[in-house]
Amino acid sequence: MEIEKKDIRSLTKQQLRDFFVANGDKAFRGNQVYEWLWSKASHSFEDMTNVSKETRTMLENNFVINHIKVDTMQRSEDGTVKNAVRLHDNLIVESVLIPTETRTTACVSSQVGCSLDCNFCATARLKRMRNLEPGEIYDQVVAIDRESRLYYNRPLSNIVFMGMGEPLMNYNNVMKAIDMITSDEGLGMSPKRITVSTSGVSKMIKKMADDEVKFKLAVSLHSAIEETRNHIMPFTKNFQLPELREALEYWYRKTKSKVTYEYVVWKGINDDKASIDALVKFCKYVPCKVNLIEYNPIDDGEFQQASDEAIDNYIKALGKNDIVAKVRRSRGKDIDAACGQLANKS
Ligand code: SAH
Repeated sequence: MEIEKKDIRSLTKQQLRDFFVANGDKAFRGNQVYEWLWSKASHSFEDMTNVSKETRTMLENNFVINHIKVDTMQRSEDGTVKNAVRLHDNLIVESVLIPTETRTTACVSSQVGCSLDCNFCATARLKRMRNLEPGEIYDQVVAIDRESRLYYNRPLSNIVFMGMGEPLMNYNNVMKAIDMITSDEGLGMSPKRITVSTSGVSKMIKKMADDEVKFKLAVSLHSAIEETRNHIMPFTKNFQLPELREALEYWYRKTKSKVTYEYVVWKGINDDKASIDALVKFCKYVPCKVNLIEYNPIDDGEFQQASDEAIDNYIKALGKNDIVAKVRRSRGKDIDAACGQLANKS
């Protein structure tokens, strides 16, 4: 019976060094292989030309590299690129490259499907199949970086964890992936250029603060009125606003890092004065800015983009209270690559 081979990228550098020593080789060989696996992002033992053929065969007999494969790539008329990537078990997740004049941002997934149930989001309808492994998150970034160099002649500059899934419900793997992305042994990117977005898992926000992470935090708020938020994001009944507020205050005390609130304004849901007042009040708890995201319809009627006037009212009220607010236009809508549209349609 063939035993299932272990994913070699689940080993730490030290474990890999130990493996070589246990097999009568030098610990240093572990460093070489580690470099191939991470900084060179190699997906095949055959590539590892500075180790002997016998060693490569030995690795092949003991391990697999569970890497992703870009299955289809679509390009939007606005330059946005969407990758549907196939995982080793044939599941698919999506990631997006968003170019602007000054930067290229990778929007990556953290789960296959999503643990949550936001009524306005297409990913929520997929249900969560499994968490992504650190290597699978890392590979999405590498794939986008290569596309960025190929199509835009520049490396990737920013990463947002705003693809499929709730990153804080796959905390350990997301942290390991970010460690490799920011490490000199991986991609060496600055954590300041990474944003993790959560729909508000308070306990894990506090844990991140305790772990002294150096990346940025975004929270999908959408309403600062409990009843409304519970209605559009039903799971928030277990993650209520007072707890969220407390977690964010804790986060800011520990990290001194501003929070970004993501906020969509919908007709008849949160386009009234009470909603605006509640948001302004919420924004005073910790230093923050607000991204007013354009709604990307995912089908039927319940959710509709609010009027320009309603958005203006938000901007005026926030501005009057010295809260920075920006309107974020959608990118990649024509290829279903915009916020909330990632649903493995193709
Ligand atoms: N689960 C995390 C990461 C996903 S980020 C989180 O919720 O933050 C995806 C962002 O797109 C979230 O801010 C989400 O609220 C927003 N979004 C979801 N569906 C959308 C839609 N149809 N139109 C615009 N934004 C949407």
